[in-house]
Amino acid sequence: METTQFDTIAAISTPPGEGGISIVRISGEYAFKVIKKIYRGKNLDKVASDTINYGHIIDPKDHNSEVDEVMVSIMRAPKTYTREDVVEINCHGGLVITNRILQIVLSNGARMAHPGEFTERAFLNGRIDLSQSEAVMDLIEAKTDQSMKAALNQLDGNLSHLIKNLRHQILKVLANVEVNIDYPEYDDAETMTTKMLLSKAREVKASIQQLLKTAKQGKILRNGLATSIVGRPNVGKSSLLNNLLHEDKAIVTNIPGTTRDVLEEYVNVRGVPLKLIDTAGIRDAKNQIEKMGVDRSKKSIKSSDLVLLVLNASEPLTDEDMKLIKLTDHSKRIVILNKTDLPIKVDVDKIKQLVGEKDLITTAAIKSNGTEKLENKIANLFFDQGIESTQNNVMVTNARHVSLLHKASDALDDVMKGIHEGMPVDLVQIDMKRCWKYLGEITGDTYTGELLDQLFSQFCLGK
Ligand code: GDP
Ligand code: ZN
Repeated sequence: METTQFDTIAAISTPPGEGGISIVRISGEYAFKVIKKIYRGKNLDKVASDTINYGHIIDPKDHNSEVDEVMVSIMRAPKTYTREDVVEINCHGGLVITNRILQIVLSNGARMAHPGEFTERAFLNGRIDLSQSEAVMDLIEAKTDQSMKAALNQLDGNLSHLIKNLRHQILKVLANVEVNIDYPEYDDAETMTTKMLLSKAREVKASIQQLLKTAKQGKILRNGLATSIVGRPNVGKSSLLNNLLHEDKAIVTNIPGTTRDVLEEYVNVRGVPLKLIDTAGIRDAKNQIEKMGVDRSKKSIKSSDLVLLVLNASEPLTDEDMKLIKLTDHSKRIVILNKTDLPIKVDVDKIKQLVGEKDLITTAAIKSNGTEKLENKIANLFFDQGIESTQNNVMVTNARHVSLLHKASDALDDVMKGIHEGMPVDLVQIDMKRCWKYLGEITGDTYTGELLDQLFSQFCLGK
């Protein structure tokens, strides 16, 4: 089968850094030509597809000198990730060798791949649809098991399946409407048609709304829940943070090859990825902490989805405590009354009055008491009705999908409004078609070049 219509691309597809093995991936029409020029070992024309073959990479420009001992995977189109001929060179790791091999590949007939280009080809060659390729990206960036599951589900095509089904239903009703418009001699054709449109619009809208319900949690799973820990000096912020970070739950991510080169720190709390804001200040030397003060807190509170406000139970409330309580009044907040192992000097009833009993917990961070309670509280805040899910556990995690679902739902509102106001059926039909088109943009059945460029450029190099 001829699927190749593009030039041949290559990139290092393992994360940068020193590892046991690195992989240089080549995809395209000339993938085998390239490897045959630079490989010494078996006759690659004779090996079966999906085999891995021992040999050496040589440099034709340097008297065919041996560069590295390698294993070369041969994967013939169309049953490959890109549906093109794919070669993967497993070399000995180390940045220098891997880069040298990539250079040799590039000077023997391949060009450097753009970020996401392998996945883009998988899409363009019809192996996966758009929402599935977005899932690949989510998988690369998945922060917790929950995020991973949502992405895997999408990769399975469950979201696509659901959307395609909705589109199919819309198309069917539109076809019926056409027929009725073409044969208006039936007495009640018009009434029947509007009835049909109305009930289908309602039905599809209900499905879309159900999907949208999952989106809030989906967003958190995808991006993490921006969280800040505030409180005056010495109340126990660092200690609480360390308890949360306990074990190997802290994930420090620095996604290579993307524009986001800043270190982001995540804590996995029962499947909720907390993205910690401004914790560097909290963990730095003592004098730094003193400087944090209310002003600095103000800033991080503003950019938080969740604020953990820490108070010291062994001292009476201070003005600064009161200020912080006020500042966080409108935030999603958990108030932590720490140091409860010491004699209680704070007016607990007053605090209950100020912040409400529901969002208040007591801890003794120094003894690691209350960490579980805190984790439960955080998880419950976001998954209180259990994780929303639809048929097949589809969860919408992607902002682009959310916005298209909203547009599709709005179009359906227009359908219903049109019918209500007695608009002619062929006008109502236009809104129904609009809904169909928006849904198609989710799966890529209707897509624009600009969208593709933007989407795939967010991928890591080599994916
Ligand atoms: P931060 O300035 O808010 O980050 O507070 P730290 O976590 O650095 O704690 C300040 C001091 O209080 C340290 O000496 C801690 O050991 C101590 N501390 C923290 N939590 C507790 C607690 O629950 N009980 C007691 N008795 N001491 C605590
Ligand atoms: Zn990567």
